[in-house]
Amino acid sequence: MRTRFLSFLAGATLATAPSVLHGQFGTQQQPVVVRPPPPITAIDDIRHLSDDKLGGRMTGSAGADSAAAYLARRFEQVGLQPGAGGWFQTFTVAKQAPVAQSARVGGMVGRNVIGLLPGHDPTLRNETVVVGAHYDHLGLGGFGSLDPDSTGKVHNGADDNASGAAMLIQIAARLAQSPPARTVLFIAFSGEELGLLGSAHYVKNPVYPLSSTMAMVNLDMVGRLRNGRLIVYGARTAKEFPALLDSLNWHAGFDLKAQGDGYGPSDQSSFYAAGRPVLHVFTDLHDDYHRTTDDWEKIDPEGFRRVTNFTLGLVTALADRPTRLTPVDATPPVHSSATAMPAYGTYLGTIPDMTDNPGGVRLLGVRAGSPAEKAGLRGDDIITRIGELDVPDLQAMTNALRSHEPGDTVSIVIRRGKQVTTVRATLGTRGG
Ligand SMILES: [Zn+2]
Repeated sequence: MRTRFLSFLAGATLATAPSVLHGQFGTQQQPVVVRPPPPITAIDDIRHLSDDKLGGRMTGSAGADSAAAYLARRFEQVGLQPGAGGWFQTFTVAKQAPVAQSARVGGMVGRNVIGLLPGHDPTLRNETVVVGAHYDHLGLGGFGSLDPDSTGKVHNGADDNASGAAMLIQIAARLAQSPPARTVLFIAFSGEELGLLGSAHYVKNPVYPLSSTMAMVNLDMVGRLRNGRLIVYGARTAKEFPALLDSLNWHAGFDLKAQGDGYGPSDQSSFYAAGRPVLHVFTDLHDDYHRTTDDWEKIDPEGFRRVTNFTLGLVTALADRPTRLTPVDATPPVHSSATAMPAYGTYLGTIPDMTDNPGGVRLLGVRAGSPAEKAGLRGDDIITRIGELDVPDLQAMTNALRSHEPGDTVSIVIRRGKQVTTVRATLGTRGG
């Protein structure tokens, strides 16, 4: 609201300037002024995409198709060209896919939206940097929702991930003013919430060869910067990344947590599995994550602006650097599909701190009314064991929860300060 209001004022100032020049003092006559429409801001884009009218943008729904059409229009407005196959790359959700049953999306058609900014260098323009953000969300809940009674209610997904899609547009607009050496490919993915379907489809059917795709930068949940803390995953997927991120942050001044391999639970995983260096820019989880309360009013415009500038610097540096990156070989984790897909079976209701690994899973907090809360867990607790399984990290915790059924009562060992305690929790069900 604030950004929109300011842009309106800026327009008004320009538009009324001519009346001063004409100096019609003492007469009733006023010059006729045509006021240009105020520019579309990032907050306007987020509001549009996370409006109830789009119904939560579940892949294959009318709301998702409307969002795809809107994004293609915005890409064109800010100066992108359609990709080699057009603005849309479609894929069909396999009827036998694990999500097809639970989310009732088997046979549905998803659309990736692809916009291209050709590079200016005659040689380097044959290489691409991909900037991606998923625009699909959880629709009317049930599948994937963390609100137990949310089925039938619109999950607007303003931060997850209208924010990333809007940032894609901002970065495209700014880069189009002065294109870098390499070609930049902007992709708004669908099917992410169903298990990275759109990005997986893209890497199998790339519009420009993956061998000449230098890196993929993923924007997923970038609208809620708190305490200046910015997370960038994938920093170890190219040798040059740590130093590059450090130097960019010298000016940006974030509390930057650059860490992790490339197998995080978002679209960068698909590109990393295909051997490309990846980075995922992220302003961290919050209480509204995958709930009906992830609304546009909670986006922080100033933080969004800062993260946009940082990411613009990052993409520019990648697209302009004279040499290619040095990918760091990665052995896929044993449970790569488990990493990519959150567990939708059992539900504990913890909010893990994804930036810290103290030899267990540190909690930022627990969800109200959740099994975790009922068991007495709270923020700063470090979970080290669930049932029969040690929990050294988040992946192990996901696996431990998956080894149980909803309704099971499990013992959970935690460190709380200097104490080691065991609590018992009765696991619930995720989704509907
Ligand atoms: Zn999500």
